[in-house]
Amino acid sequence: MRAMILERPGLPLRLAELPQPEPGAGAMLIEVEACGVCRTDLHLVDGELPHPALPIIPGHEIVGRVKALGSGVAGFRPGERVGIPWLGWTCGHCRFCAEGRENLCDNARFTGYQIQGGYAEYTVADARYCFSLPEAGDPVALAPLLCAGLIGYRALSMAQGARRLGIYGFGAAAHIVAQVARFQGREFYAFTRAGDAASQEFARSLGAAWAGSADETPPQLLDAALIFAPAGQLVPQALRHIGKGGCVVCAGIHMSDIPAFPYSILWGERVIRSVANLTRRDGDEFLGLAPQVPVRTEVQAFPLERANEALARLRRGELQGAAVLRLRA
Ligand SMILES: [Zn+2]
Ligand SMILES: [Zn+2]
Repeated sequence: MRAMILERPGLPLRLAELPQPEPGAGAMLIEVEACGVCRTDLHLVDGELPHPALPIIPGHEIVGRVKALGSGVAGFRPGERVGIPWLGWTCGHCRFCAEGRENLCDNARFTGYQIQGGYAEYTVADARYCFSLPEAGDPVALAPLLCAGLIGYRALSMAQGARRLGIYGFGAAAHIVAQVARFQGREFYAFTRAGDAASQEFARSLGAAWAGSADETPPQLLDAALIFAPAGQLVPQALRHIGKGGCVVCAGIHMSDIPAFPYSILWGERVIRSVANLTRRDGDEFLGLAPQVPVRTEVQAFPLERANEALARLRRGELQGAAVLRLRA
């Protein structure tokens, strides 16, 4: 099979011809239809995530068809469309697994990081962590739901009763979360890089109450802010715009250092928190909700061998919505 592999962080991905993997007990062989390009993949390629299993095939927003079942797999049949997310395996017995917080599992393994991912024609996944997906529709449009949508949904759920929601970094996750937030009757305020008029216009087209650059002051005090951009200076900026009892949620896996800030902007029971990974329950909830909204993704498709270009454009902020690798026509 053809795959894009990362041999060493800092190097571009390399197109390789590899043997088709075989599904072991409890696993499925999946013929990949499409795989989203997530900012986490960029952090992986740039060496910002510790201890990847090198060489690694990145990609954890995988939409594909079941090609073969390993022994003991129940609940899936050949030909069925499935989604494979970031959470690839958990131990089931650590303190966090026991508490229903498998996203924090001490021994978790992640797709496209410690488990070979979806920048390939085929991949193998533990069936217990796969989701059923709608049979109809373009797989490219579905792929961003598997991480941008899922992690965005988990971040949004941390904002609980927030009616006015700030969203920092208006990319793949934000454009999905914005639709869910509106569906839930919330207002959203979009913050982009300075001068990024295209992203601000995109946010307005999705119903933003206001869109501007991150160093601007929104017209209203916000109840919560979700930060999807990996820039630590956004944390104190967001804190200054949320009211008492509000929450700033950092949704990325990596962020530059957060600069020092005065205690007065945290006072009043304001909270800063991160969101890590996902649970299978998040996936079931969000994938059930998405068709009701209905979530429509803005995608830009690339063939497998142009994965480096997709990553470069994501790094430069040149994408509207999400980049997705299309493996089959
Ligand atoms: Zn565990
Ligand atoms: Zn991701």
